[in-house]
Amino acid sequence: MASRLVDFCAAACCAVLLWLFPAPAAAVLRVVASFPDVADMASQIGGDRVSVETIAAGNQDPHKVPVKPSFVTKLNRADALVVNGLGLEHTFLPALLEVASNPKLLPTGPAYIDASVYVQVLEVPTSQNRAQGELHPLGNPHIGLDPVRGKLMAKAIADGLARVDPAGAASYQAGLERFTALLDGKITEWQALASPLRGVKAVSYHQDLVYLAERYGLQLMGTIETKPGVPATPAHLEQLVDTMKREQVKLVIREVAYEAGLAQTVAEKTGARVATITTLTGGLPGADTYVKTIEANLEALLGAVQAGAGG
Ligand SMILES: [Zn+2]
Repeated sequence: MASRLVDFCAAACCAVLLWLFPAPAAAVLRVVASFPDVADMASQIGGDRVSVETIAAGNQDPHKVPVKPSFVTKLNRADALVVNGLGLEHTFLPALLEVASNPKLLPTGPAYIDASVYVQVLEVPTSQNRAQGELHPLGNPHIGLDPVRGKLMAKAIADGLARVDPAGAASYQAGLERFTALLDGKITEWQALASPLRGVKAVSYHQDLVYLAERYGLQLMGTIETKPGVPATPAHLEQLVDTMKREQVKLVIREVAYEAGLAQTVAEKTGARVATITTLTGGLPGADTYVKTIEANLEALLGAVQAGAGG
């Protein structure tokens, strides 16, 4: 009897304590992401378990992100780092990590989450030759512009988060399944919408569209830059315009971080239309999530192609 009374008192006491001090919410994993695309994926997958801060802004050229001291503080406090990978962070991340005093975030560390690990890389240079430009030495890093590869990036991020925070593995898996289902639905829609792009010849400013072109069937005919990261020369532009005239190229794709004037000039000389897209989430108005970015880019491409066809 006495022991029952003790049990009762203990249970009542527990109930009161729980009421006074509710169980704390699941621990929040502090994640820093290099770019807004992988930041959005990490947020969608991690939900309430993660807080995500981003280094680069969506309208920046990913190859020219200026380094700020505040990034070092973010990295110093982070539990995990999510990157696009394939060298896209080369201008800012190695320098920041060197001073951030957080060895687990180094590429060899357990909390470095590389979103590119499941993607088969295209345009891998056959030789490391300076003449090929220096910005894509590991192959083309602009994988996120293709939403099918975006699913692989999301999987790599979910696996990475589960590695860093094993207690949350089921939650990250559920988050990945939700995000993948969302993307799958959209991809079917986008593929149907994109049918007017199939076989359309285009030039872009930077060599970043190989994955996107493969998804929608665009035919890439050259770039305004001479090589990735190497500015246009008059001779190169003359050759590009000649090719465009000969091949009837009527679409110039300008990534928003690159100057509008040169893309417009090339379009005017060839009777082409300019489509302004963004290589990073957040680079176009309203494109504040990965899904909205893919959508905004597709709308921009369709707008230019359909205006060209009508005009
Ligand atoms: Zn690039």
